[in-house]
Amino acid sequence: MTDRTAPQLPAATILGYPRIGPRRELKRAVESFWAGRSELDDLQIAAADLRRRQRGRLVDLGLAPDDASIPCDFTFYDQVLDTAVTLGAVPPRFAHLLDDDGALDLPGYFTVARGEGERPPLEMTKWFDTNYHYLVPEISPQTRFRLSDDRVERLFLEAAAEGVTTRPVVVGPVTFLLLSKAVAAEDPGDGAAPAAAPPEGFTPLDRLEDVLPAYVDLLHALGGVGAPWLQLEEPALAVDWGVPRERVLAAVERAYTVLAAETTRPERPALFVPVAYGPAEDALPVLARAGVEAVGLDLVRGGVPSGEVLSQLGDAVVVAGAVDGRNVWRTDLDAALERLQELEAGLPAGAARDGGLCVATSTSLQHVPYDVGAETRLDPQLSSWLAFADQKVEEVLALATALTQGRDAAKGAFAAAADRRRSRLEHPGVRRADVRDRVAALTDADRSRAPFAERAAAQAEVLDLPPLPTTTIGSFPQTVEIRRARAAYGRGELSAEEYTAAMREEIERVVRLQEDLGLDVLVHGEPERNDMVQYFAENLEGFAVTENGWVQSYGTRCTRPSILWGDVARPAPITVEWSRHAASLTDKPVKGMLTGPVTILAWSFVRDDQPLADTAAQVALALRDEVADLEAAGIGVIQVDEPALRELLPLRAEHHAAYLEWSVGAFRLATAVAAPATQVHTHLCYSEFGEVIGAIDALDADVTSIEAARSRMEVLPELQAAGFARGVGPGVYDIHSPRVPSEEEVAELVALAAESVPPQLLWVNPDCGLKTRGYDEVEPSLRHLVAAAQKVRAQL
Ligand code: GLN
Ligand code: ZN
Repeated sequence: MTDRTAPQLPAATILGYPRIGPRRELKRAVESFWAGRSELDDLQIAAADLRRRQRGRLVDLGLAPDDASIPCDFTFYDQVLDTAVTLGAVPPRFAHLLDDDGALDLPGYFTVARGEGERPPLEMTKWFDTNYHYLVPEISPQTRFRLSDDRVERLFLEAAAEGVTTRPVVVGPVTFLLLSKAVAAEDPGDGAAPAAAPPEGFTPLDRLEDVLPAYVDLLHALGGVGAPWLQLEEPALAVDWGVPRERVLAAVERAYTVLAAETTRPERPALFVPVAYGPAEDALPVLARAGVEAVGLDLVRGGVPSGEVLSQLGDAVVVAGAVDGRNVWRTDLDAALERLQELEAGLPAGAARDGGLCVATSTSLQHVPYDVGAETRLDPQLSSWLAFADQKVEEVLALATALTQGRDAAKGAFAAAADRRRSRLEHPGVRRADVRDRVAALTDADRSRAPFAERAAAQAEVLDLPPLPTTTIGSFPQTVEIRRARAAYGRGELSAEEYTAAMREEIERVVRLQEDLGLDVLVHGEPERNDMVQYFAENLEGFAVTENGWVQSYGTRCTRPSILWGDVARPAPITVEWSRHAASLTDKPVKGMLTGPVTILAWSFVRDDQPLADTAAQVALALRDEVADLEAAGIGVIQVDEPALRELLPLRAEHHAAYLEWSVGAFRLATAVAAPATQVHTHLCYSEFGEVIGAIDALDADVTSIEAARSRMEVLPELQAAGFARGVGPGVYDIHSPRVPSEEEVAELVALAAESVPPQLLWVNPDCGLKTRGYDEVEPSLRHLVAAAQKVRAQL
């Protein structure tokens, strides 16, 4: 038996829980406050009420109220912003919002998140390879770190007052700095200036020594209120950052030596440092050596560490993330238990019983919905296979019981899990011979089109477009009337015929408008789509959609991912009638509009029983049939959107090549059925290419539209350097802002693009779809866009 001096961690815990509320209560409360419909007090009361109910729920599910097994990870917007604010790392352009102690009130916090007038908000970017987005802290050589906020203690005390001892959660120092962006110090006199480029060679990690005292103060503050544990999250240790690994590990060693060895308990809480989202074997011994009381590892994305690593963990409690925090399937409890036992075998004898090994989720449960029980319309068999957050809490508890008391002690849970697995394995929709035979018969020829030169010549002949053709990315504003009609149709108040008629009318309006604007390649406007992925999920076999399965995407923005549970097939054409209708209304070419296979996977919960590559091929085949049918219906231009191509890129560089091979292969499989004269477009939604630039070329689309307005065409030289020589439509109208760009501004961007792209390959289009904008912005903006294209055309 090891003699543990730290307080015990419970045998079962979760790394985090959803924050938005089972009915998106927090979103509603925050947005109502933003809109001025409620007071700050109302918002605080709603949030406190939500936190109280969530703690109660977790206790009801079986987490103990008194042993720090319940994480305290509430946030009004984003956990990284919370940490930045706690450490005083607020950019100088928001300095006027701080009080004398450097603290920010809640309205000020929202301002940093959302911007104000000329002051841009913090940038937002993806949280690892998830669909959650965090706000990127800005760190300069002068950022003044100090403990500036008492929210962490306040939340701990709020729970304690109700008899629940929680475990506060804060982003750890190394991850905090790695996630941050290096900026120049700003002149605070000129408050509105956005952050400028940092001095040569400066990285936020250079500020480690300066940020640590703020963490030390936080530890003492938490010790002062009696918090037994603090969870300091270090997920960034599972990622390649382009910083030498030795430097990252040295930073970990230094940081945690200061926090753990140079401060004492109980003046500080015991430290639990989970490294989630991937394997990081090399970091665990460093953390243990530095003296943290518990380390966490992701057993779902990473394996059981080697015996050598485990033997170096000394006294540290090991918290094993055995239940997937990122997907919605019931855990194979027997397989998970086996892994836990394998892990235990590498630890000192009796580790689990002694409290040396605990069971947890692999990541926070913020990435999954609350409760399968809230779904009333799912097929009961399918729902029996699913575990949302609440079901995952129960799984963690069952595994902990089995690990400490033997499998028999959790017999019921294990038997139910095995039954459900069997029912899933045997379900005829999960493995369909027709789908599998088709995938098995594929050859490289199915992924290849004729050479581009040949295609370009054939397309030029049928399409007869001017140089610098103008088009849009697909969606037009989703007006109140469209949304109302869809809701009424959903409630059964509008018949299918009435709904279809309303959408056809809308398509006609959008086509007329585009003709009037003088655009060259028209779209139908996508009024019939609630969401570019869910729409296809609703129309393909193998998918299900939920009623309440919301997850936070960023801030108050939530999405409801579809669930891809079985083999995918297309029972009938999906988009053809809408596109045919649009084409019948005009002599101009109309562009068909599909969501690509990679994006459909990225924005859905995907099956976990086969490689993503296999699932992607099935989705691609369904889309391939749609491409063929669109072409047969006379649609000569077809766009297949892949805005998430980069999003699924694996965290570790060593896995990039394999990912790009199957993802590019899936896109090509979906599109290569098109005849040479059919013009295939794709659309990508980001402006930093980095590692995917070669893949964009490999997609072999005839035309690629891509976000570029804000970066002022930065992508074009990069594309050129990568040898890209097909059609490209760099966005010349930033649709993320309500601003209407002037004709001159757009013309300047088009002219800039024309400097690096030959006119026969250059397209003129907005950055992205227009669905979130209003017609009062879209109409003048597109008018300016068309006029700008004409102006630059005339100068050619
Ligand atoms: N065709 C889609 C639209 O216009 C593309 C959206 C996207 O790239 N996210 O809305
Ligand atoms: Zn886009």
